[in-house]
Amino acid sequence: MIVYLNGQYIPRQQASIDVDDRGFLFADGIYEVVHSYEGHLFQIDAHLQRMEHGLRSLHIAMDDVQAMREVAERLIAENGLTSGEAIVYFQITRGSAPRTHGFPPAGTPPTVYAVATPYTPQRDQAEEGIAAILVPDPRWVRCDIKSFALLPNVLARQRAIEAGVADAVFVRDGVAIEGTSSNFFGVFNGEVVTAPKTNYILAGITRDVVIGLCADMGVPVHERPILEHQLGQAQELFLASTILEIRPIVRLNDHPVGTGTPGPVTRRIQQAFRDLISDLSGG
Ligand code: PMP
Repeated sequence: MIVYLNGQYIPRQQASIDVDDRGFLFADGIYEVVHSYEGHLFQIDAHLQRMEHGLRSLHIAMDDVQAMREVAERLIAENGLTSGEAIVYFQITRGSAPRTHGFPPAGTPPTVYAVATPYTPQRDQAEEGIAAILVPDPRWVRCDIKSFALLPNVLARQRAIEAGVADAVFVRDGVAIEGTSSNFFGVFNGEVVTAPKTNYILAGITRDVVIGLCADMGVPVHERPILEHQLGQAQELFLASTILEIRPIVRLNDHPVGTGTPGPVTRRIQQAFRDLISDLSGG
């Protein structure tokens, strides 16, 4: 496997990060995840724009963000991933410097890493839906930054696994806000509801795609908080992310959601999403 590290394409075994890297010491950086279908990078512009937002928010200077498109394309080609699906992972840190909380001297280059791996989608989960649990959201208040400091997400996902379900949905101040690695949607009276873009959620690229598809189909969308106590009234629930795409939730906290099977609105969105992907990869 060939990976990208700081301007070089090298075998995975030769890629190494300094122990003084601020990513290792402070989780000082951001990541990004892009889905490739038949060698086509889905929504790459939006992902690079979000990367720029994260870097700007953290005051990490990296001038060649747009070059990450070529990096992703080359990793896909060099690793033989131009057919089927693949995931490209980027991680950028503030670079390497002796440990002190303040920023390293100006001019310290960021550490830039990227890897492309083959991806096999879990079709059964997309078709049949998943069970999930609600968990308290202990995260900081800058969830709009795609920080790789993911301990709350890791612990919540593990709690889901130990509860025998696929995922967890964070609840903050009575609001079911987002999944551990996805945005959260409900269908109420045939209308789609999802949390507004604030500092309490990651502005998902897939979330925007879903909202656009709903607009095209004439399905009303409301960007407003979904209150925990209203969840029992939801006809349908689903998660959306780059990796999961659209994933129906059919059981929540051991109660069936709606009929306990993926609902018609979720199905329509899944189909529209699939059509979009097949247009992207040339039918
Ligand atoms: N929220 C969180 C917390 C996430 O980790 C992710 C996945 N990166 C998302 C939402 C969905 O974002 P996207 O659709 O861009 O993958």
